[in-house]
Amino acid sequence: MDFELTPEQREIQALARSFAEAEIEPHASAWDRDHALPVEVLRKLGALGLMGVCVPEEYAGAGADFLSYILVVEELSRADAGVGVTVAVHTSACTMPILQFGSDEQRDRFVPPLARGEGVGCFALTEPGAGSDAGALTTRATPVDGGWQVTGAKQWITNAAFGGTLLLFARTDEATKNGRGISAFILDSDQVEITRTEEKLGLNSSATNDIAIDSFVATDRLIGDEHHGFRIAMATLDGGRIGIAAQAVGIARAAYEVALAYSKQRIAFGHRIADFQAIQHKLANMSMEIDAARLLVHRAAWLKDKGHPHTEAGAKAKLFASEMARRQTAEAIQVLGGYGYTKEFPVERYYRDAKITEIYEGTSEIQRLVIARAILGEAHAARA
Ligand SMILES: Cc1cc2nc3c(=O)[nH]c(=O)nc-3n(C[C@H](O)[C@H](O)[C@H](O)COP(=O)(O)OP(=O)(O)OC[C@H]3O[C@@H](n4cnc5c(N)ncnc54)[C@H](O)[C@@H]3O)c2cc1C
Repeated sequence: MDFELTPEQREIQALARSFAEAEIEPHASAWDRDHALPVEVLRKLGALGLMGVCVPEEYAGAGADFLSYILVVEELSRADAGVGVTVAVHTSACTMPILQFGSDEQRDRFVPPLARGEGVGCFALTEPGAGSDAGALTTRATPVDGGWQVTGAKQWITNAAFGGTLLLFARTDEATKNGRGISAFILDSDQVEITRTEEKLGLNSSATNDIAIDSFVATDRLIGDEHHGFRIAMATLDGGRIGIAAQAVGIARAAYEVALAYSKQRIAFGHRIADFQAIQHKLANMSMEIDAARLLVHRAAWLKDKGHPHTEAGAKAKLFASEMARRQTAEAIQVLGGYGYTKEFPVERYYRDAKITEIYEGTSEIQRLVIARAILGEAHAARA
């Protein structure tokens, strides 16, 4: 067992940390208030190789491993969880599945611009009537000359407003009502229309959009085999949720760091509040739970890097890290007292941002289902 990061992993982590401290953290409160993330930030991340960390160099990526990408997501999310999810969805839910399941021609055509950050990647699965039960989706792809006419609507699609590439799932076999009969397509953002920008509890710098589709999609845009796209969606979420777990660790770490610093400065009853055992226990729990979550996340990433099954390990990492982040960001507010509840400190933002990690890329209930099925040895049918 080796807990040490390689020199390359440390270098990438340091690069992401210094960029996040200089270019993201100082603006995070304003982006949260304004509900906007300047696209130049993503271009700069692209120039540094951070939009394609785990993409091979021959496809214009940085050529690092999946764990390196996970380290980047934690660092970005510590500064701004919205930036973290933007990069996570772009990388693990769009670029990587094209790399893994696409043809040589699709890889050559679509991956390099994504890895350079010239366009931003999206994963378009959820619909108004199909969330956890993604196999119930009704967006349809009807065969026409040279391809399909794709019609339907998708909901809460992260990054859609930035423009770029979408990995989109539609039903190609009308006779089916579940995961069978769904195919995966690569669309350009000019093939979809943004119909709504969502107002959210947190994660305000991240773009969350509803989209409508009524477009011709050519045969060469089908990824994998026709009617077998659901498998691609599930495999994508298997890896993607490790990134969301890293996002949760980053958010919790940010909250812990603020709480720790504050506890050494705030005086009550003539003492630093850090001298009170009640506060010490909170800080100890935060530090321990963040460590535990990160170890689960790194184990899942390591399994993925080794090509081992990682469904169960990824679900455990996401479940624990997301619930930990919700718990510990609330504790951070408690350490800061009234100041924690105000916008003078960023912990209230961390608390709002943490909640989503229990919901997207599979809710906590679905993660428990995935883990239980792995334990009980049943094939999993529900969405993860
Ligand atoms: C900010 C944000 C960004 C998102 N980004 C994307 C994106 O980029 N791409 C995309 O495709 N989707 C995206 N989503 C959608 C997200 O993945 C779904 O919200 C999530 O999968 C849950 O689906 P749902 O909201 O429809 O909840 P539902 O499926 O309606 O679930 C409602 C409740 O029922 C529970 N439940 C459902 N089924 C079961 C079951 N079998 N057993 C036990 N409990 C169950 C759920 O856990 C939950 O508590 C995003 C959502 C948000 C809010």
